[in-house]
Amino acid sequence: MTALILDGKKLVKEREVALTASVAELVKNNPVPILATILVGSDPASGTYVQMKGNACRRIGMDSIKVEMSEETTTEQLLAKINELNANPDVHGILLQHPVPSQIDERLCFDAIAIEKDVDGVTTKGFGLMAMGEEAYGSATPAGIMHLLAHYNIDLNGKHAVVVGRSPILGKPMAAMLLNANCTVTICHSRTQNLADHIKQADILVGAVGRPEFIKAEWIKDGAVVVDAGYHPGGLGDIDKTGLEGRVSALTPVPGGVGPMTINALISQTLEAAQKASS
Ligand code: NAP
Repeated sequence: MTALILDGKKLVKEREVALTASVAELVKNNPVPILATILVGSDPASGTYVQMKGNACRRIGMDSIKVEMSEETTTEQLLAKINELNANPDVHGILLQHPVPSQIDERLCFDAIAIEKDVDGVTTKGFGLMAMGEEAYGSATPAGIMHLLAHYNIDLNGKHAVVVGRSPILGKPMAAMLLNANCTVTICHSRTQNLADHIKQADILVGAVGRPEFIKAEWIKDGAVVVDAGYHPGGLGDIDKTGLEGRVSALTPVPGGVGPMTINALISQTLEAAQKASS
């Protein structure tokens, strides 16, 4: 068996052509959609991610406003900025780059984002709606993964999905989305016992651990669909891919798999927010 490569980079190119056409249609009678990005502090990786998100907006004809706040920013200052952007009718989506410095109550700040501008899918309300199968913007990384799986016609119905990681922005919403897509879902985390035994059961495996090559290739069963959300220096993911290409059914590359899809989900949801605001 040779694994089908779930090529996020290639899919993003296709999706951006369609998004560019949709933006061009919208701006005939409406203002250019704007994504506001908020970066608190000076973490270089976060700075790069914010830059990439702004660039992706511009590639499809949208705009972005970059808000930069100091490392010493307080929760109150960040809340005030979010409320200002909530009230700004020119802004259609708000992205608060995670993580924020530790003195800030990140959950409170995420939840201050107006639901109609929560295009990164980070609010508790948005999560709840999505988990209930109601209309909401999904958390961008799992939403991007779902687009990737759908594009490559990966059959999820009745399959056993194992998600390793339970963070609010990745593991938990991923599990909810897979459940909504009729998978039987196991969620693993740092307290899970016999992790390898759970992973061996996976028809669909999502690695979202945040530790380079933590999930070992020998734990993964033949024929599985392997999605690696991790990205670490040196181009490593959360999953060790040794020998997998010859025995699993599908595989996301790192880089070029989940990463580009995350940004694409964010910008497509921003466009959707602008379309809704105009109707
Ligand atoms: P996170 O908030 O640090 O969460 C990591 C999760 O892994 C936690 O739920 C943790 O469990 C679990 N975990 C840690 N050690 C474990 C162990 N020994 N066994 C089993 N589970 C363990 O990370 P995140 O934000 O979800 O990100 C996860 C990965 O995705 C990272 O590699 C990150 O770089 C990547 N990521 C990629 C994108 C993208 O666009 N490609 C976006 C976001 C994140 P506990 O809950 O018990 O602590």
